Amino acid sequence: MMQRRLSPEVKEKLLEALRIGVEKGYSYVKIWRMLRENGVEISRSTVRNYYYRYFPWRLKKRGKCLPRELRIKLYDEVKKLRKQGLGYKKIKKKIEELYDVSLSLSTISYWCKNICSPRNGCRAPSIDFLEPSPELSQAIGVVAGDGFATKKKDNEYVIGAKVKDGDLIEEFSKCLGKVLRRDPPKPRQEKDGIFTVEVESKALYELLRKPLDINRIAPYVEHCKECMRRFARAFFDSEGSVSKGGQIRCYNTDVQLLQYVRKILNLLGIRTTGPKIHVKKGTTIYDRRKGKTYTAKKNVYYIYVRKSDVLRFYQLIGFTIQRKQKRLEEYLKKRGLL
Ligand SMILES: [Zn+2]
Repeated sequence: MMQRRLSPEVKEKLLEALRIGVEKGYSYVKIWRMLRENGVEISRSTVRNYYYRYFPWRLKKRGKCLPRELRIKLYDEVKKLRKQGLGYKKIKKKIEELYDVSLSLSTISYWCKNICSPRNGCRAPSIDFLEPSPELSQAIGVVAGDGFATKKKDNEYVIGAKVKDGDLIEEFSKCLGKVLRRDPPKPRQEKDGIFTVEVESKALYELLRKPLDINRIAPYVEHCKECMRRFARAFFDSEGSVSKGGQIRCYNTDVQLLQYVRKILNLLGIRTTGPKIHVKKGTTIYDRRKGKTYTAKKNVYYIYVRKSDVLRFYQLIGFTIQRKQKRLEEYLKKRGLL
């Protein structure tokens, strides 16, 4: 079915209405009426198309939605069959035979095209559906630091992080759950003690793929003071360190990102210095923890919080990671500032 292109203004209003409407369990007709009452001229079929495109599970009446576990099983089966070269109709038939469940062809096509997956929830299928929130801002901070955003061969979009600290990964996982409106993903611990958490989400991939696009993350990070605070804390959790002398530093290879972090801290009234070079590309470094030497592939830079603003950093931002927070407290106590 062809549809006229919507103006960006109308599209924004439509997406906003869908977001609110679906949250409240409204039908597309009700959402369409709501829009019309607010003076947004839009056809009913357009609203319906968008509604079903973004929320295919709403195709059936509420309550009929299959349990998540089963949907994930079906999803994996659908993907497997698709890989074997089956068409949508054949997949549908096969699923009916195997599981006695009838999937709509549109759901099958959404799954195959990775528009949505039961793993990431269909409630944030694209970047348009991400709403600014402290949790999203925190997740951005973690991914900007220790995280990754990758597109796999079969168009699976995965974002996540690998970190040393359990308290950080726990928080990150909660944030992802909130942002994607699903259960928080379960972190796992590798043999070397490193924690990993990852989720499938095309929306977050679009937002967070590297090199990080500052212009893309800025509206979320700078949404309000709390959002800025959470971003900064998450970034310092991942990339920051506190020395015994009370210097708070954070390191990264991306100069622009460090400059952006400086800007955010400045908006919060915390002054920093840098970026300065920490390790030059090509330098051989000995990693004491791993007992290995390696060569730096890129320049590593750092910024640091000015002495006069360390207390303000502690009061306003601080660390989620307890060992870093404690060290900062010890320093401030020693200086008689706490
Ligand atoms: Zn905010």
